[in-house]
Amino acid sequence: MDQIFEDTATAFALKSDSELERAYFLFKMIANEPLVKMGTLMTNFAIKAHLPVEGLIRATVFDHFCGGVSEDDCLPVVDKLWSKGVHSVLDYSIEGKDTEDPLDNALHTILKIIDFVKEKEAIPFAVFKPSAYGRFSLFKKVNLKEKLTADEEIEWKRVVARLDKTCKKAYDLDVRLLIDAEESWIQDAADDLIESMMMKYNKERAIVFNTLQMYRWDRLEYLSALHERAKAVNFKIGIKVVRGAYMEKERERAERKGYKSPICKDKITTDENFDAAIAYSIDNLDDISIFAGTHNEESCYRLMQLMEENGIDKQDDHIVFGQLFGMSDHISFNLSHAGYNVAKYLPFGPVRDVMPYLIRRAEENTSVAGQTTRELSLLKKERKRRKI
Ligand SMILES: Cc1cc2nc3c(=O)[nH]c(=O)nc-3n(C[C@H](O)[C@H](O)[C@H](O)COP(=O)(O)OP(=O)(O)OC[C@H]3O[C@@H](n4cnc5c(N)ncnc54)[C@H](O)[C@@H]3O)c2cc1C
Repeated sequence: MDQIFEDTATAFALKSDSELERAYFLFKMIANEPLVKMGTLMTNFAIKAHLPVEGLIRATVFDHFCGGVSEDDCLPVVDKLWSKGVHSVLDYSIEGKDTEDPLDNALHTILKIIDFVKEKEAIPFAVFKPSAYGRFSLFKKVNLKEKLTADEEIEWKRVVARLDKTCKKAYDLDVRLLIDAEESWIQDAADDLIESMMMKYNKERAIVFNTLQMYRWDRLEYLSALHERAKAVNFKIGIKVVRGAYMEKERERAERKGYKSPICKDKITTDENFDAAIAYSIDNLDDISIFAGTHNEESCYRLMQLMEENGIDKQDDHIVFGQLFGMSDHISFNLSHAGYNVAKYLPFGPVRDVMPYLIRRAEENTSVAGQTTRELSLLKKERKRRKI
């Protein structure tokens, strides 16, 4: 495969010199672990104390990693990405709300997003997390197959109804729906719910997409079993394939509670597992649509290679590459430049509410050291090319 990701002129074509400088400065800060730790503490304190730090956050991390505070606010960014053929996935990034009001608000917001994006070619997907629709501890109880109280039964029915309403709307308006994966101790409950939605709404094509975290050693088996069930009752599978974001938490909990960790023993095994899920899907493309959510260059090259070997059109809508806004532009823009389907998750929401997402991005970039080093060296190369 041609090493297309080296082309920094295409990668950063949308960035002005000052935006390039801001990105460089930001990643330099993020690379510094003690600074991220201190910055996180100070920001959390400032937000809780209602100090006027929103302007500062907006001008730095927020504008780099988020599209705006509302759907409309995101439109200039969406248009900009689309001018280079990159799709957006509006991601309402509010995390960890556990009372009924925010759950209904989340439903309301996702339904609004589906309405907002319908017939917008630049935004072909909507996305949400299962726990946005139900109490985390209720998911946990359902996951353990524990008996629910009468009140909990009613509460769970509301979770199912929220999900059904969302999938139905997505189906009616022909907007594909990505459902994120979370911690393994709620994921079986989410998987069962999402599979029932696929059965209902993926009759003709994949509208509802579940997420497979390939750092879990059991996911390949899960995929082939799901495929058998899909063939038996005739529905299409939509999957977002990712490596997984909660590795440390998963391992720590398994150790503390004394069960076998659900995570692959090492990075190479996760990588092989990821590639195997992609290869399996490519072999069964009539039944399975994939959204490859990754910043790993090797995985992207492999998928490109597989497409070429199998004579699959770059624009085949069973295959979409996905990255997060503010990260790995060299992958997204070069892929789209080469003619592939690409989408960026574009988080949005009030600055305060998006903070947990931003902190996770900073921490992730600090811990995935290679990735930050790579961002920095690409930005450096582009600064040099532009003679900044
Ligand atoms: C568009 C998009 C959507 C996403 N949606 C979700 C989602 O719904 N749910 C979710 O959990 N994550 C999601 N992620 C995050 C994703 O799971 C990864 O954490 C992140 O993308 C880093 O992995 P990578 O494939 O980009 O590449 P890499 O940087 O090559 O891989 C890093 C990943 O490899 C795995 N890993 C690292 N070290 C080890 C080790 N020692 N042993 C085993 N495995 C290891 C971990 O999963 C780690 O995150 C999403 C990512 C993107 C780009």
